[in-house]
Amino acid sequence: MNIILLGPPGAGKGTQAARLQATRGMIQLSTGDMLREARASGSPIGEKVKAIMDAGELVSDAIVTALIGERLDSCAGCGAIFDGFPRTIAQAEALDLLLAERGRHLDHVIELVVDEEALVTRITGRFTCAKCGAGYHDSFRPTKVAGVCDVCGSTEFKRRPDDNEQTVRTRMEEYRAKTAPILPFYQARGLVRRVDGMASVDEVAAQIDAILDASP
Ligand code: ADP
Ligand code: ADP
Ligand code: ZN
Repeated sequence: MNIILLGPPGAGKGTQAARLQATRGMIQLSTGDMLREARASGSPIGEKVKAIMDAGELVSDAIVTALIGERLDSCAGCGAIFDGFPRTIAQAEALDLLLAERGRHLDHVIELVVDEEALVTRITGRFTCAKCGAGYHDSFRPTKVAGVCDVCGSTEFKRRPDDNEQTVRTRMEEYRAKTAPILPFYQARGLVRRVDGMASVDEVAAQIDAILDASP
């Protein structure tokens, strides 16, 4: 099974992908995470994308497509969850090719439908465990014990530099202008399943599970 989680920044893609990875053994392929890793390692790609990411603009199609291709090769036969990719029509077309070359196909494009104003609150409250990467939110998903990661017990957390209100607005504009237009591309193929992304994390999870379990 290969699925895309599609939605604006803060829609809950990463949260749901991490859950599917834990409960179904699928593999989360997040281009955002790959790009942040490239930055952290100081690689030439990391250097190249730094300013673009900090401004909330989209990195070139060629870079993200190459990253996804590499990861697909190391997950032959895995159930892939595309998180934050594709983000343009060109990337959607490139993904078709990457999958076809490997004898794979898309099963579902799950659209997380959310209210834009809520996204700013979600993103400005987002933080992750610095050690294991578990995702939290100041109000909606706090740690059980204040300051301690539920998963690994670490007391160190981090926030993304691009998770500020101004950059979020640019990221939402990028979504509207370049990413939302890929919905009709997949609608024409009958692949889009809409999920209410404003529901609680568990309710969104249940809606996604129902879609995956209904698959032949
Ligand atoms: P995305 O990967 O789409 O950018 P995330 O999964 O990182 O979004 O979610 C953004 C923030 O909102 C995180 O802090 C997360 O804990 C929180 N969040 C995710 N899903 C929900 C939800 N259904 N209701 C409330 N908060 C949520
Ligand atoms: P979010 O969780 O808010 O959806 P991501 O972590 O997916 O954000 O992406 C963070 C940043 O990385 C984006 O603002 C963009 O600069 C870059 N990026 C990630 N994925 C892509 C992609 N598929 N195409 C272009 N740029 C990307
Ligand atoms: Zn942790």
